[in-house]
Amino acid sequence: MVKVQTKKVVATKKTIKPKSVAQAKQTGLTSFVTLDSVISQSGDISLPEVSAKRFKYNLNFKVQEKILDEINYKSLNISLPEEPQLSVLSFGGGQDSTTILHLLVENKKFRKKYAPNDLVVIMSDTGNEHPSTYQHVDKMMKYAKKNDIEFVLITPEMNYHSDKWQGLKEFYRRTNTVGSKAFRKTCTDNLKLKPIYRYLEDYIHEKYELDEKGRKKAYYEYSEKHGKILMMVGIAKGEEKRIADKDDKNIPKWKKQSVQVSYPLVDMNIDRMVAQTYIKSIGQTIPLPSNCMICPYLSKAELVWLEKFYPSEYNEWVKLEKNKIDKYSDIIEPEKNLGVWGKKRLPEVLEEAKRETVNMTDEELFDYKMSHGHCVMSKY
Ligand code: SF4
Repeated sequence: MVKVQTKKVVATKKTIKPKSVAQAKQTGLTSFVTLDSVISQSGDISLPEVSAKRFKYNLNFKVQEKILDEINYKSLNISLPEEPQLSVLSFGGGQDSTTILHLLVENKKFRKKYAPNDLVVIMSDTGNEHPSTYQHVDKMMKYAKKNDIEFVLITPEMNYHSDKWQGLKEFYRRTNTVGSKAFRKTCTDNLKLKPIYRYLEDYIHEKYELDEKGRKKAYYEYSEKHGKILMMVGIAKGEEKRIADKDDKNIPKWKKQSVQVSYPLVDMNIDRMVAQTYIKSIGQTIPLPSNCMICPYLSKAELVWLEKFYPSEYNEWVKLEKNKIDKYSDIIEPEKNLGVWGKKRLPEVLEEAKRETVNMTDEELFDYKMSHGHCVMSKY
């Protein structure tokens, strides 16, 4: 049986590459990781406190809490595996998955419905989360540990990220590329989904003492012995376009047979505002929405916010874009050599964005940031 250790890990050194949970445990890399080292290296500008304090909540917390408490889970038309042996929360570090983690701890009916037996929370580090997201993850790991819930943060050192995709900026730097609104992205798949499912195969192999593993064999064996794994994903009501079609032909056979993905917030009609209100109502901190700092899906107002509060991050993004443009300037005609926003370069987009948001105060920018942004490129 896997018992995840609570060892302190220096998560930024890339010296040891464990191949399995067992190996990772020996090296101390499977963990409730302490993120001090990550946080200390991830930027020197913190969120504007004054703005955080004034973030507005329009709903009556008590009323909302009551709504959540009175949900009759039986009456909801949710099809879940009967008593799943293993439930997994795919944690993104943002508001939706944070709401689910709190519900798992605070709400007995919810826990019984979605995680009646074994439960593990898993997050994969993209290497480009906001400093406050890393701080929030650290806090949530401690919260999970206190409530006897395993929480695993997969960092590149654990060897579940591929050699090509060790981190978002690392990939861009090495390949002289940059994510663009104009092209299909594979970052979510490579930095989040794949590491989580690679890790999970090792995890179930060890925890349920399975005979086989590798090439997803453990998933087949697990499903034959224990039924489907319930994978909870934090997508709120109103964001259903991020939900994968369960009949999608691209879903691999092993996954169809062994994993059932569920969206508890959609099931319960919890939209972004109710989720925020719920977190606040139980006295917890509302985190930033989860997306990478230099996600090509940022809006113009978020770009202004980034440049204002994390100028070094913005400047590096400009450099990465320039590297990409220079690399292809002899190969592709200028019209087709696209940057993050397409034909316009980041500095030009920023100027435009500043003009468009000229009437927004820092606080308003922060409020906007708090209710926008997701890792949107793969369907879950
Ligand atoms: S947040 Fe954006 S950049 Fe990061 S993995 Fe998701 S789509 Fe890619």
